[in-house]
Amino acid sequence: MSSVSKNIQFDTLGLAPELLSRLAELNYSEPTQIQQRSIPHILQGQDLLAGAKTGSGKTAAFAIPLLQRHLLTAETSERGNYVNSLILVPTRELAQQITDSLISYSVLFARKPKIVTVLGGVSINAQMLKLRGGADFIVATPGRLLDLIASNAVKLSKVKHLVLDEADRMLGLGFADELNQIIKLLPKKRQTLLFSATFPDEIISFADALLNAPVKVQLEQTVETINQRVITVNKPNKTALLAHLIKENNWQQVLVFASAKRTCDHLASKLAKRGITAEVFHSDKAQNARTKLLSAFKTGDIKVLIATDIAARGIDIQKLPVVINFELPRSPADYTHRIGRCGRAGENGEAISLISHDEFHHFNVIDKKNKLELVKEQIIGFEADDEAPLDCPSRDAKPMAKPEGTGKKKRKNKPAVNVDIWGSKTK
Ligand code: ADP
Ligand code: MG
Repeated sequence: MSSVSKNIQFDTLGLAPELLSRLAELNYSEPTQIQQRSIPHILQGQDLLAGAKTGSGKTAAFAIPLLQRHLLTAETSERGNYVNSLILVPTRELAQQITDSLISYSVLFARKPKIVTVLGGVSINAQMLKLRGGADFIVATPGRLLDLIASNAVKLSKVKHLVLDEADRMLGLGFADELNQIIKLLPKKRQTLLFSATFPDEIISFADALLNAPVKVQLEQTVETINQRVITVNKPNKTALLAHLIKENNWQQVLVFASAKRTCDHLASKLAKRGITAEVFHSDKAQNARTKLLSAFKTGDIKVLIATDIAARGIDIQKLPVVINFELPRSPADYTHRIGRCGRAGENGEAISLISHDEFHHFNVIDKKNKLELVKEQIIGFEADDEAPLDCPSRDAKPMAKPEGTGKKKRKNKPAVNVDIWGSKTK
């Protein structure tokens, strides 16, 4: 381990024995960089803007100190439907995952925190019942939280700690209305914590507006253990190439991203015709189906999961080996989050983008913004033409300068190396 993390252990961060013992049980032998840098500030009650790469333990970085405050200060919901700590996230699966982490970290507490998960797509009545008498923690997606507020099931006027996980997503256009409504209901005097792997420039002013004299921690964004590749292919051959790669590499667990729900469905049926069983994960699926699909994928019962960007943020799939971009995500930040589903907690992973002519230009934008400098590859038998094929709708799109590589794997990005506690490289 590098000198940075050598002397910093969880017990030097001033954590309670109930937490230290639990972290040891979970084999968290030392805090990750973002945990080292965040936990002391959060314990002191400071506001924080924390940027650290995917899979580097940001959940524990906010969950552990907030649980400690619950434990030591007996901060608790007063009578009525008040909530002490509010954690807002973009997807239902992430809300459930963070709830599970909070429960897991606090199993040794004599006085267990009351944690309520608030998410859409399931019965609201059960959530209303649980919220009676308030909660120590609510982990919520914004829409359902607002529904519960409208029904007087919960009041935010005594929130002491607000966390936005995937903060740039929460502060982006998609959640702007809902988030504004929620923020208006919060007390001005509170602790606000923003966590994400990406903080694009355009959201920084929104972040600053929420924070009060924040500490800002911005760690490196690149996950060195993810081997990133980009393969060019004619659009009509993309599905065949994907099927070829899955079979050829004998991948046992692969997460494939497509941009639209219909593309996911369509792709699954085209793969089925090629003898590959794939399941689809998108927002048209019922919530109980979504939950089952994700857990079956995590246990390895589903080999190929085709998902929209609802699976791009926060979801922790341990040791996932491969992520495929069947289509590119809209933004460079989304690219970072998608590929960050693999290569978590210091594990190795591989992220492959399949791009055809209409995507070359957009890929260059992602490549440049994220400073990837990937070298485009071709796979023998699936080589992309110099220009888009005549029957291809993308023919008018800007062509790639010159296809590079011919079947042989070449890349300019650095190979996977050992990292210290998921921060900087071990020299
Ligand atoms: P992030 O939010 O930064 O993407 P997560 O909080 O989901 O990452 O954590 C990624 C994985 O690392 C999880 O499986 C988590 O249990 C594990 N983890 C977090 N902190 C530690 C630690 N200090 N030691 C070992 N594993 C950890
Ligand atoms: Mg996270």
